[in-house]
Amino acid sequence: MTKEADQTAIPAPHEGEPYLLTPGPLTTAYSVKQAMLRDWGSWDDDFRAMTKQIRRALLSMIDDPEQLYDCVPMQGSGTFAVEAMLGSLLPRDAKALVLANGAYGLRTAKTLACLGRAHTVIDKGDYLPPRAEEVTRALEADPSITHVVAIHCETSSGILNPIEEISKATYTAGRKLLIDSMSAFGAIPLSSQSIEYEALVSSANKCIEGVPGFGFVIAKKSTLQAAKGCSHSLSLDIYDQWATMEKTGQWRFTPPTHTIAAFAEALRQHSAEGGVEARGARYRANRDVLVEGMRKLGFETLLQDRWLSPIIVTFFNPAHQNFDFQTFYDLMKSKGFIIYPGKLTVVDSFRIGCIGQLDDQVMRQVVSAAAQSLNEMGVDSAQAPLAAYTEREKLTAE
Ligand SMILES: *Cc1c(COP(=O)(O)O)cnc(C)c1O
Repeated sequence: MTKEADQTAIPAPHEGEPYLLTPGPLTTAYSVKQAMLRDWGSWDDDFRAMTKQIRRALLSMIDDPEQLYDCVPMQGSGTFAVEAMLGSLLPRDAKALVLANGAYGLRTAKTLACLGRAHTVIDKGDYLPPRAEEVTRALEADPSITHVVAIHCETSSGILNPIEEISKATYTAGRKLLIDSMSAFGAIPLSSQSIEYEALVSSANKCIEGVPGFGFVIAKKSTLQAAKGCSHSLSLDIYDQWATMEKTGQWRFTPPTHTIAAFAEALRQHSAEGGVEARGARYRANRDVLVEGMRKLGFETLLQDRWLSPIIVTFFNPAHQNFDFQTFYDLMKSKGFIIYPGKLTVVDSFRIGCIGQLDDQVMRQVVSAAAQSLNEMGVDSAQAPLAAYTEREKLTAE
């Protein structure tokens, strides 16, 4: 089976295994699953070399010629890594401005509350983007704010937040930025040459297309140095993990060895595909085929094109009386596709992810499966309820 034979077609997952149209865990390559069929000693040189290589490959994605940054992997799901970043890199006397427009922004605020870090929140609701002017105003109004925490792609709505203007506003005001780039890193450029930030956080099972089990923080070395003794937690201490890894090449506590081996393979695939740019291009093509096809069926997207990320798309549930999300979900699953419920508070919605081992061919099949499912439910129009259009009007102002 040669890859050259067919450059674009991605092999289907195992027979009977549905595609995961969810933003992590997601559908991984067969070779990534295969990489887990081996046990590793965490102390062994080969494993240490793998850790080193992973850190280096991740750093190569941020375009850092002066080597100002370093990469610190951390066991656990993405949220563990976010908590590790916040608890370790925000000094105890820091005050954070959290830019929230969905579940992950709110989770960050909750984490800061748990950690006892001073913070204030700009909450834009379900999906409206935080803009530079409001960041500037908030920073002017409160000189005690030292850091801004932003979500790159807010996965709960699928909005791609304007991280570049947020970064500019932050550093123009002399403050520092931490980015949750969980669902964007690896597919959406975050070059340290064009966007300034102290640190970003992401995880194994999003755009790099690995399996779940660890996250990683990429931070300025100066920020890591300054983080000594800052963490509230032993296991989530980014400084200590970094210092130990630098010294011994090892993770501090048992690492998810199989996940890491799978991730090393996922990184090889990422690079073979053409890196961040090519990965982003495939996801954009996935999104474009999906959105165009679903709109043809009458579905409405929550977001206007300008704010649609290539990661995940929110669609309004059709207003039709025969539409029922659970039934739709089950019908889609029976056709081989796992979709995702929505997270909006005002209007019912569902989400379809564009990331993972999927290409435009698969997305065409997703659209036909949606058409068939509507048909089987007796839904002849996917038109959204009136409230959805009222909701969408709000975005026009942005
Ligand atoms: C996935 C994700 C997280 C982490 O979620 P886990 O379920 O803990 O892996 C955090 N922030 C964003 C924006 C995400 O998409």
